[in-house]
Amino acid sequence: VSDNAKVSNMPPAGRTQDAQKSKLRDRATALLKTRQQLPIWPHAEEVRQKVRENDVLLLVGETGSGKSTQIPQFLCSEKWCQSLPVLTSTTSNGAQKGRKGNIGGRIAILQPRRVAATSLATRVAQEIGTPLGSSSPASTVGYSVRFDNNVSPSTKIKFLTDGMLLQELLRDRWLREYSCVIVDEVHERGVNVDLVLGFLRRILEAGRGAGSEDGRQGVPLKIVVMSATADMGGIHDFFAGVGDLPVNGSNANEGQNGHTSSQSQNEEWNGFSDSETPAKQDTSEENKRSSNDNISVGSCYIKGRQYPVTTHYTSTPTTNLLDTAMDRIIQIHQHTPLPGDVLVFLSGQEMIENLESLCHTYASSLNEQQKPPQQPSLPPRHKRGYPQKLPGLQILPLFASLPTHLQARIFQPTPPFTRRIILSTNIAETSITVPGIRHVIDTGKHKSRLFRPGLNLDTLLSTPISQSMAKQRSGRAGREAPGHCYRLYIEKDYWDLEKDTKPEILQTNLAFLVLTLKAHNVDDVLDFPLLTRPPRRSLEAALEGLLNLDALDPDTSNITDIGKKMASLPVRPDLARILLESSKHSPDIVEGVIDIVSALSLEEGIFLPVHSNKRLQSAAKKSSQELLLDKQKKKSGEDVSDDEESNPVEAARRQLLSRHSDHLTLLNAIQAYASPNTHDRRAWCDQHGISHRAMSRIMDVRKQLRQMMGSKRFQLAAPSNTNTVTLDGALGALQKRETILKCLIAGLWPNIAILTSLAPSQTQQGQAGSQPQNPNQRAPYTTLLTSQGIHVHPSSVMFTQRDSPGRRKEDDNTMGGRRDAAVGASGMPRAVIFTDLIYTSKPYARNVSAVELGWVADMGKLS
Ligand code: ADP
Repeated sequence: VSDNAKVSNMPPAGRTQDAQKSKLRDRATALLKTRQQLPIWPHAEEVRQKVRENDVLLLVGETGSGKSTQIPQFLCSEKWCQSLPVLTSTTSNGAQKGRKGNIGGRIAILQPRRVAATSLATRVAQEIGTPLGSSSPASTVGYSVRFDNNVSPSTKIKFLTDGMLLQELLRDRWLREYSCVIVDEVHERGVNVDLVLGFLRRILEAGRGAGSEDGRQGVPLKIVVMSATADMGGIHDFFAGVGDLPVNGSNANEGQNGHTSSQSQNEEWNGFSDSETPAKQDTSEENKRSSNDNISVGSCYIKGRQYPVTTHYTSTPTTNLLDTAMDRIIQIHQHTPLPGDVLVFLSGQEMIENLESLCHTYASSLNEQQKPPQQPSLPPRHKRGYPQKLPGLQILPLFASLPTHLQARIFQPTPPFTRRIILSTNIAETSITVPGIRHVIDTGKHKSRLFRPGLNLDTLLSTPISQSMAKQRSGRAGREAPGHCYRLYIEKDYWDLEKDTKPEILQTNLAFLVLTLKAHNVDDVLDFPLLTRPPRRSLEAALEGLLNLDALDPDTSNITDIGKKMASLPVRPDLARILLESSKHSPDIVEGVIDIVSALSLEEGIFLPVHSNKRLQSAAKKSSQELLLDKQKKKSGEDVSDDEESNPVEAARRQLLSRHSDHLTLLNAIQAYASPNTHDRRAWCDQHGISHRAMSRIMDVRKQLRQMMGSKRFQLAAPSNTNTVTLDGALGALQKRETILKCLIAGLWPNIAILTSLAPSQTQQGQAGSQPQNPNQRAPYTTLLTSQGIHVHPSSVMFTQRDSPGRRKEDDNTMGGRRDAAVGASGMPRAVIFTDLIYTSKPYARNVSAVELGWVADMGKLS
């Protein structure tokens, strides 16, 4: 039977499938040429060989050389990468009996960010010509990121975030699903990667030496560690020098990389030695092992293509990064030819969104100017100093929590006669290679988490980047042709930057790390192999924090049942504790708490800044020439009208506010957004000045959390006095909100603060109500556990308490009149809990709610 006859006999569904398959195949064939031009392509056989011969391969390759997309494809057809059936037990005469299942067969590629995991999976599926993830049972490429598991039974190559692998390790500490784990972007050195490397080393160690157990039953696990920068010396020693690691903390330099002996190896790596470094032999008596106990480590260096990039600095320090970045974009757009896309590195989503609005204003003013002139009095464009016709602008933001379909636009073809302006966080530094870039604008900032254990202060701050990050950023301009990098800081500031990026483990809150280790029954955290030893004070603070959340047993420090459940929930420990607490109550409480936790699990807030909105709205009505005029007027001290008409957004938003609670305000907003009565959600967001992007992410998170919390696994038994009866009407609503706040206390009570005038140091001196004399003087609240003076963040609904004492009672849809009992003489609530403490000019509590101290005492805390 001819192929044509076969096709015509097929049912229509079969034909559609066949057509889809051939479309996928054609696309893959078309992409093969591009793949073959990648710098990594000629190294395919060398990579295969080295992985065959070693347990671990360390691979350094410049960004864009093809590591993330090609290495899994090079390896997936290797013999060692096939799934193997394993037998449960052997009889006394050695004969095998009973079949349990398979081990291996999959390759995991870990990414520090979800955006990279999903976009790489999409790309690799296209290159192979297979559908992506769960869309087809035959798909061989999938991904798994928090709140989105997209794999099929046939998935062979699975991209996942390092956090997801940690979750999988909780279910199977031998990672029996996989033949190979590729750890990508290891130079970023997030805490999760450090943990993963420790677990991988333990899997490799198992089975070596007498008496070890090996849950993989001899089926090897291959490990590939990849980095865009050359410093792999520490990682080499971490694996190869198994015997000489300071595992018990005896010779560790606290807060330093414990492997001081790696100096010479480091130098060798920095010189890009392409030869295999022999595994290090340990000679000390106590750690003596036979040489074949050592893990064998190979190495490989792939040189990328790099054209020269000219670096420009500002002549004076920049005071307004956004304005300067915008000016630079305009300069580039008006004075440089196409092709030449622009990549701007900014610190975070808020900065990106602000610059995005400025760019849109500029783009629409261009469109205006390019229309035929309506006022005959205006001179033609070119006479006003502009070229005849400028290209159009396409403005694309890029940050971690951006929905997948918006991320994908980075890789879609640019429309004709258009310049792309990509506004990105450090994601585009090494994680995602954006094509077409000739100009990089570097603000010199990124967001980093800093933890101050003494104050239990965990902050996400915009901080200066390191020199190595600055170099990566400028490198992005020279991938396809010579380019330019505009650093928005003076040259001296560059030389003052830290040389390398600090590992996150040295500066972050370690509660998650400790909880994960405890969940793996690592009793003494110092016993676990870590590439860099964390500071003791951070570890102690983490242990204390987990004790406060009932995750550890106060007598043994072992993990409790609650702690195990917390470790399996995909949110940070305090939020996980809140979710678990809600499970003691009726489903509507659980759902309310899930809504709040979903919103809190996003890094950014849902409310767009009204002031900048206002500015942008009025800016949008002005042409760029008018804006320029405004600027000149401002410089000369003249008044510039700021369009002060009352803002309907603020009025709409007020409907959502819960006077004494940011958490309940979030709940109001989410419930209104998700209500079946809200038909056009995007319009609703515009009306309320709320980020539609953030809300759609919250909906994804809430869907997953609802699924998880529906399972018995996450139920806590309710104590007999818990009231699970829900009342109707106003009293019911009141009771519900009070119960939700009590659930929040279970996770946030260590962050409780009381009016400073009531803080113990003051009352003891009989000064209640008078101005406090301590250094936290003007801070209205003082935390109970750390005696830290704190202010309410301006973004909080409670920020305006003092400014508007005459606010109507009806505005308070939280607690009605009952709240008054909890309000101090100043009109401010006596006690508050908060989710985050951020430190800018002073310590600010963000996401704050008023609570009653009695509730906390009723829960057995602060007694
Ligand atoms: P590396 O890991 O070495 O930085 P990658 O494998 O990520 O390199 O990228 C190799 C090439 O594949 C780059 O040119 C990049 O632009 C392209 N690429 C990567 N991801 C995608 C994607 N999702 N869509 C289109 N092209 C992509």
